[in-house]
Amino acid sequence: MTGTVPTSPLRGRAEIDLGALRGNVRALRARLAPGAGLMAVVKSDAYGHGALPCARAALDAGAAWLGTATPHEALALRDAGIRAPILCWLWTPGDPWREGVEAGLDMSVSAMWALREVTEAAREAGRTARIQLKADTGLGRNGCQPADWPELVAAARAAEVAGTVRVTGLWSHFACADEPGHPSTAAQLEVFHELVGYAEKAGIEPEVRHIANSPAALTLPESHFDLVRTGIALYGISPSPELGVPADFGLRPVMTLAASVALVKRVPEGHGVSYGHRYRTPAETTLGLIPLGYADGVPRHASGRGPVLVGGAVRRVAGRIAMDQFVVDLGTGPDADAVQEGAPAVLFGPGDNGEPTAADWAEAADTIAYEIVTRIGPRVPRVYVDAADGHEEGVGGDGRGAGR
Ligand SMILES: *Cc1c(COP(=O)(O)O)cnc(C)c1O
Repeated sequence: MTGTVPTSPLRGRAEIDLGALRGNVRALRARLAPGAGLMAVVKSDAYGHGALPCARAALDAGAAWLGTATPHEALALRDAGIRAPILCWLWTPGDPWREGVEAGLDMSVSAMWALREVTEAAREAGRTARIQLKADTGLGRNGCQPADWPELVAAARAAEVAGTVRVTGLWSHFACADEPGHPSTAAQLEVFHELVGYAEKAGIEPEVRHIANSPAALTLPESHFDLVRTGIALYGISPSPELGVPADFGLRPVMTLAASVALVKRVPEGHGVSYGHRYRTPAETTLGLIPLGYADGVPRHASGRGPVLVGGAVRRVAGRIAMDQFVVDLGTGPDADAVQEGAPAVLFGPGDNGEPTAADWAEAADTIAYEIVTRIGPRVPRVYVDAADGHEEGVGGDGRGAGR
């Protein structure tokens, strides 16, 4: 991780299993419609898993493209030596278009202002810019409205003829693909077909057409076109509990968030615990202090509810989660008595050793698992392991496995 604050992997650590990530890429590729490739979405530091090691592992396992939100995320990957095609889609006026052109990024364009900035940058750089036109087929977020599509397509085609841009892609994004059978999904697909057809009739010959995110990649083969853009599934997390658990799709969670118990102490019955005394010990008991808090991304909203595997059992957070720490009530059983300072506490992981999952924390915090992993903070070191592929890959601290 970046940053100058020294971190201790003993206090808390996010183990990132790159072997699991490679396995997830293979499992996803096996589900794709014929002819479709995989874009590994590594925005927001690969959903908290570390952009560079995850990008390298995904490419190793057969991802053809990388995707980021901001140009800065994409440029950082280029600076680190990644040559694969990278699409970045969240641009703001004044952003580094010229650097994007020079780095050979694929730059998403949703509006005329963006087309003007990118053509200007291409002229300055003396190079053809690679752009992908994004349509809003119904999400109601980024993308060009269908009514504005003819103007954007005509201007982009004119810029192609002038040699300033090459339209490498036509694309869109789903609103409700994680809700199976939601009528908006079929409606968006229909609009996408129309808008792609319109652009192609206008003379645009895209290398890739794409609309599918993780839920669509997992459940909707007719949406795969030339490429699917998978984020959350790559990290081994189901896009929603409704769709199933990761194992249903051959996926395995990549991140394990663990800490070492910092203090164990005996307290009497009726002792208030943490700010606001929202928990009171029902009897004499043993408390364990876990040195991770909301500054590390443990959601305060899960106070009193978040699950932690410690001392052989899953315990609930006792009282409020503070900035740097929280408490669990270990009780008085023999398992609890065996817990000492330094004992492992696992907040979430793949779930096969009795530990909770990121999905369990999402439920406890009334959010989605995407937010749980993505918000794990920079004070938590990422420790790269290759558990799933084990001896085959070896351990690569910078994410480069030994094999393949
Ligand atoms: C984040 C994002 C994705 C990936 O979504 P997942 O549900 O994590 O697969 C794909 N496309 C766009 C435009 C995104 O913003």
